[in-house]
Amino acid sequence: MLTSLVLVKTLLTFMYSDLKLNKILETIAEKAQSLSGKGKIADYIPALARVKPNQFGIAICNINGETYTAGDAEKPFSIQSISKLFTLIQAIKTYGDQLWQWVGREPSGLRFNSLVQLESENGIPRNPFINAGALLVCDRLESRLSAPNYQLLEMLKSLSQNNMIKVNQQVARSELNHGSRNAAMAYLMKAFHNFENPVEKVLESYSHHCAIEMSCVDLARAAVLLANKGVPLSQERLLTAKQTKRVNALLATCGLYDEAGDFAFKVGLPGKSGVGGGILAVYPNNYTICVWSPALNEAGNSLAGLYALEQLSDMLEISVY
Ligand code: GLN
Repeated sequence: MLTSLVLVKTLLTFMYSDLKLNKILETIAEKAQSLSGKGKIADYIPALARVKPNQFGIAICNINGETYTAGDAEKPFSIQSISKLFTLIQAIKTYGDQLWQWVGREPSGLRFNSLVQLESENGIPRNPFINAGALLVCDRLESRLSAPNYQLLEMLKSLSQNNMIKVNQQVARSELNHGSRNAAMAYLMKAFHNFENPVEKVLESYSHHCAIEMSCVDLARAAVLLANKGVPLSQERLLTAKQTKRVNALLATCGLYDEAGDFAFKVGLPGKSGVGGGILAVYPNNYTICVWSPALNEAGNSLAGLYALEQLSDMLEISVY
């Protein structure tokens, strides 16, 4: 009798907090939606320029896989630089600490596609989340894996438990046709002997990664391992607790490029953004959050997405600091 009373009480508390969280997400989505037209859509390729600006989605996934959503949370979008998080995970799995001979772990303080430091720092990219660093990571994956693109997609399908995830081939082709700056970075690294494979081959695979489409729900689920000391929803450990701590530290210091400081100040969580308008954030030991709204601010981060994460962090009093 007593146990069933306790059970009913726990169940009611759960339902109450679920209701409260859903309400908070709805409130935030409503406000963020009104901001969603304010920024500027990434227009460097036609396929991205066509995306409707006034869209907003948010999803939270806790370490048990329970997911809470509001707005356009199930709509797939171009993950762009959020792919850099998952290629880094592949590279850490493949090379372990050896990776850090070729790429740094410091914030760049510059735009994601800047070439400036690469020249003065002898072809060693500052970190794996700026374009140069991600290209380096792709290069090393190309050297070791038999089918890096296929393996990335399979990893994402398994992490998010969604077999429908795919690459938008039109976006991938456009990326490649507009990738002169990325090509310049790769060639510069090659000149410094920090690039092993043919540049064109690596650019092709990098473009495919940027063109993967996932929803807020997919991404929040895929990143659960970062909130759960390296263990994803499948329960098959992918990273050690120490590797997970390090990935989260890199996300916190470098994940939002030259806006990483402001993101720490306002949101206080490790995060990764992309020019498709997605931002993924991790609240270690608890849950992950993914927001999406395609219009961007000056730094290339989602304007309404940043607003929503700041609101959520304030309302739920979540921060790693
Ligand atoms: N495809 C973009 C690029 O390579 C990705 C950048 C981003 O999302 N910040 O420039």
